[in-house]
Amino acid sequence: QIQKPKLILDNGLRLDGRRPDELRPMKMEVGVLKNADGSAIVEVGNTKILAAVYGPREMHPRHLALPNRAVLRVRYHMTPFSTDERKNPAPSRREIELSKVIREALESQILVEQFPRTSIDVFMEVLQADAGTRLASLMAASLAVVDAGIPVRDLIAAVAVGKADGVVVLDLNEPEDMWGEADMPVAMMPSIGQINLLQLNGNMTPEEFRQGMELAMKGINIIYNLEKETLKNKYAELKEE
Ligand code: ADP
Repeated sequence: QIQKPKLILDNGLRLDGRRPDELRPMKMEVGVLKNADGSAIVEVGNTKILAAVYGPREMHPRHLALPNRAVLRVRYHMTPFSTDERKNPAPSRREIELSKVIREALESQILVEQFPRTSIDVFMEVLQADAGTRLASLMAASLAVVDAGIPVRDLIAAVAVGKADGVVVLDLNEPEDMWGEADMPVAMMPSIGQINLLQLNGNMTPEEFRQGMELAMKGINIIYNLEKETLKNKYAELKEE
């Protein structure tokens, strides 16, 4: 067992050199797969996720179809090479739980009532895991859904906040996720002010929670603009062609 390192250095910076309120570098791209209806790749620091969306399409098996809305089927999966030590490719309890949490977040984004009797299938592959994979996966899925032309209420922007050595920090890195006192992933649809996902692992005082939410909103706004930019560039590209 490795000992907990100091997470906030004497100069107030974090182990990766960031200030407490700083995001990791991010990259996003949509339309990266030829054979899916929609796709996206999202990178947050060294975390790297590929998402593919199929549908809305006729539901098989038919008896699982719903008369009033589309059924979402969602799989979050870590590739064997995504972690330090080879990960068993069989779905773990954690992956099953995250698939459910991500499905619930997407259900409030997608206008499922517009597509009765169909299924929308969403696949996320974690290519590299370095903290924050549930949120990067959710954002990749949400961009892939939009890329598939499926109507949504808004884009989903997400970031984790937490507490490391008593300091409230934005966008946790892996050591902070592992050794920090709290980890709180937040996902939102910013322009309609709705929260899609909010979890809290660890302990924060009400004041730290308030401070954390404020920091998360700040990060979410930056990420939301990057998402809009990503989609705008893609459509500008298509128009030129
Ligand atoms: P999230 O990825 O959403 O932060 P967790 O808090 O469960 O979800 O995981 C934190 C980090 O721990 C992951 O991003 C990943 O870097 C690492 N991790 C998770 N599962 C494994 C695993 N089976 N093997 C190695 N590292 C893992």
